[in-house]
Amino acid sequence: METFVAAFTPVSSQHNASLQSEQSEASVRPLIAGNWKMNGLAPQLRQIEAIAASVKAKPPLADILICVPSTLIARAAQCAGGRIGIGGENCHSEMAGAFTGDISAEMLKDAGACAVIVGHSERRQHHGETDAMVAAKANAAWRAGLLAVICIGETKSQRMDGKALSVCGDQIAGSVPDGMTLSASAVAYEPLWAIGSGHTPTSEQIAEVHAHIRRCLVVRLGAAGREVRILYGGSVKPSNACEILAVPEVGGALIGGASLKATDFEAIVNAVSKRAESSLAALA
Ligand code: PEP
Repeated sequence: METFVAAFTPVSSQHNASLQSEQSEASVRPLIAGNWKMNGLAPQLRQIEAIAASVKAKPPLADILICVPSTLIARAAQCAGGRIGIGGENCHSEMAGAFTGDISAEMLKDAGACAVIVGHSERRQHHGETDAMVAAKANAAWRAGLLAVICIGETKSQRMDGKALSVCGDQIAGSVPDGMTLSASAVAYEPLWAIGSGHTPTSEQIAEVHAHIRRCLVVRLGAAGREVRILYGGSVKPSNACEILAVPEVGGALIGGASLKATDFEAIVNAVSKRAESSLAALA
């Protein structure tokens, strides 16, 4: 299976290489992923061109992925020129067949995608996707050689009832198939009440859930569970990215609204470099 990182990670500059070598051996490159949802006509592709140009000018310390509507994948991949990854936002679990209007993981790959989001809460809510369906989609992504970004997260009422950890644990158990690896998957913790609301959990709340997800992954997958990136998603923007990305076990971010504008998305990507620079300064 092709690895996600090998698919598009820009070649590190000298500068990046030295920064990375001073990071802890266990550290994994963060993943900053955008989710355009049902937004974007042809003119929006200029944002991909702008992000690709800024990645060329200053190679980031993160893997960059933008998940776009299926109609834009092929053109977005062309605009990205291999500098950033392009992903789909959903796929069917079957490879092909009588599923009018659906799109398979193989079709996404054929169009130029290297990844796909599965189990986004909007799919779970509006399309009745269950954990089992999400797991089947993640398996389909792997079958096609795509990175699967598997989304989980609690509702506001589940959090108020003190059930955030158990809900996320159950979703990991049901939505993550056996065989998950760093190069083929990421988990995105997206509390539903934070998506598109402008509200974010506190750093402590994010840390608590991410630590729980990590424990669940390690119990389930052993060593592989220690490496898989756990992204935070829900109202990430330039003004809060630094703080969120510094939370323990946050291995990147899944960004909706702020990924539609190149300058906002780039500012979030730059927060990864700022975080690395301040860790190095603390070590000096
Ligand atoms: C999302 O839909 O995955 C998301 C995180 O949205 P937003 O950043 O707009 O809250």
